[in-house]
Amino acid sequence: MQLLKDRIISDGVAVGTEAVKVDSFLNHQIDVGFMAEIGAELRRRFGDIPRDKVDKILTVESSGIAMACSAATAFDAGNPPPVVFAKKELPRTLTDEVWFTEIMSFTKMKMTAIRIAKKFLCPGERVLIVDDFLAHGQAAAGAVKLVEQAGAELVGVGIVIEKAFQGGGELLRKQGIRVESLAIIDAIEDGTITFQ
Ligand code: 5GP
Repeated sequence: MQLLKDRIISDGVAVGTEAVKVDSFLNHQIDVGFMAEIGAELRRRFGDIPRDKVDKILTVESSGIAMACSAATAFDAGNPPPVVFAKKELPRTLTDEVWFTEIMSFTKMKMTAIRIAKKFLCPGERVLIVDDFLAHGQAAAGAVKLVEQAGAELVGVGIVIEKAFQGGGELLRKQGIRVESLAIIDAIEDGTITFQ
């Protein structure tokens, strides 16, 4: 998605050789109009899948929520698939039974539990996973695990920014998972971001 690559170049900030900060438009302050474009592009990438073949869009809190909602609206503004997000914190109000797994967070350098109330991810549901970044693939693989635990069916994984050099995309694609990434970064060197 050229618009996204241009925006990463103009407003993104390389952090060392491993990370990109896109907090001015994607995951701290949100450019809502741009987010709608991202949702529309995610929908286009899965354009062969009709609305009635996607029961739910799944993401991980918190930065994936905005793009998951935009993608849901792009599927059908009048009847969007519900967005469910895996929770990292365990709120006292989450008293239901949950699907649960642990993922390694490379941004936080620690293991994080993610969980979804069983009532929001059910056997047989067709699920599209959406997230902001795909780096080492831990978050996406954790979400896939929750889908498997639930006995739901994975339709694919839609990613806004994939960093190819961290191997998460390869990990998922090797398992036969369909991964669509709107921008794929090959390298971050001396503050310069190079795309595929
Ligand atoms: P993974 O689990 O694939 O290693 O990392 C994916 C998660 O880590 C994403 O959900 C995202 O929140 C965070 N993340 C990974 N790389 C970056 C990055 O370069 N910039 C930002 N802002 N977040 C990242």
